[in-house]
Amino acid sequence: ILIYLFNFKIILGKNGVPVAENFQLEQSTIPDTVQEGQVRVKTLYLSVDPYMRCRMNEDTGSDYLLPWQLSEAADGGGVGVVEESKHNNFAKGDFVTSFNWPWQTVAILDGSLLQKLVPQLVDGRLSFFLGAAGLTGLTALLGIKEKGHVSAGANQTMVVSGAAGACGSLAGQIGRLEGCSRVVGIAGTDEKCSILVSEMGFDAAINYRKGNVAEQLQELCPGGVDVYFDNVGGDISDAVINQMNQNSHIILCGQISQYNKDVPYPTPLPPEVEKIQKERNITRERFLVLNYMDKQEASVLQLCQWIREGKLKVRETVVEGLENIGAAFQSMMNGGNIGKQIVSVSK
Ligand code: NAP
Repeated sequence: ILIYLFNFKIILGKNGVPVAENFQLEQSTIPDTVQEGQVRVKTLYLSVDPYMRCRMNEDTGSDYLLPWQLSEAADGGGVGVVEESKHNNFAKGDFVTSFNWPWQTVAILDGSLLQKLVPQLVDGRLSFFLGAAGLTGLTALLGIKEKGHVSAGANQTMVVSGAAGACGSLAGQIGRLEGCSRVVGIAGTDEKCSILVSEMGFDAAINYRKGNVAEQLQELCPGGVDVYFDNVGGDISDAVINQMNQNSHIILCGQISQYNKDVPYPTPLPPEVEKIQKERNITRERFLVLNYMDKQEASVLQLCQWIREGKLKVRETVVEGLENIGAAFQSMMNGGNIGKQIVSVSK
């Protein structure tokens, strides 16, 4: 089997940018026999996600993330098919997923780590369980429900940063489905902005690499901003907060612009922006999807229904081959993806 090893650690505090060379592909063997309670799986799809940047540090900066160990296979979200099972819940041919799927073509896993998938929920598009019908979709939906204070008919304007990424592209659409009257995205290329408007139903989108974000926001959000789904932090978020209304709400989903830096999470706002936040009574509570897993089942069903009904448009950027997973991670961190970045490992 092929194993993708994490083989070079960026030392916390060095502000390192991850590169494909941080990872190395190795050929290895797995045991011949599957023990009681275990399952042998073939990997179909793997996910690369921004939080993995934190797992490259010795101190991940959070108590729920363990650092990847040097010269051991990295792991993350994965989807695969059962080849042999000695666990009561799984049979050969079942499709399964785990948050801790090793970056291997084949693996023997504890059955307790796996969840069974129902492919019909996503019309057989199994990779969706790593994106729109998985943790990413849950983050967008539960972030909005738990922290967004969106109510239909309230004429709210939502702004989404990182808007053409996996979470962001869904968040804008869900904001609309939940009742926001205006949705504006911020993303890194003209192509992304045009997809947001023509395909994902955003009212407008701003390319933050072009022109002045604050001025464009002012123009595009004449009534101010009521809900801000923040994926990026930094200067972009400072500009959005500046335009936010009294008693408005930030969904503090992520701060990707800060992940290569040696700063705590969530990054404190600059004093002048914090002053605005306090004076305008803008909520900015930390949101972590893993704290809401009791809502997973019902929320996944809701997401799958929207996907099947065509109410939630899903984009993926798929890279083929385990040997390209390091490059896929690097590309996603640099904005190379539209929608969810997926690595297709085997058919
Ligand atoms: P993603 O948005 O699909 O991919 C990352 C995107 O970030 C890139 O495509 C890039 O797009 C943008 N980006 C990179 N560097 C940037 C910078 N310096 N400034 C602005 N944008 C930058 O990734 P995702 O998986 O959906 O994650 C999005 C955010 O959600 C991340 O912050 C992640 O940590 C967070 N998240 C949080 C939870 C939770 O439970 N709270 C769960 C999942 C994810 P551009 O071309 O637009 O720059």
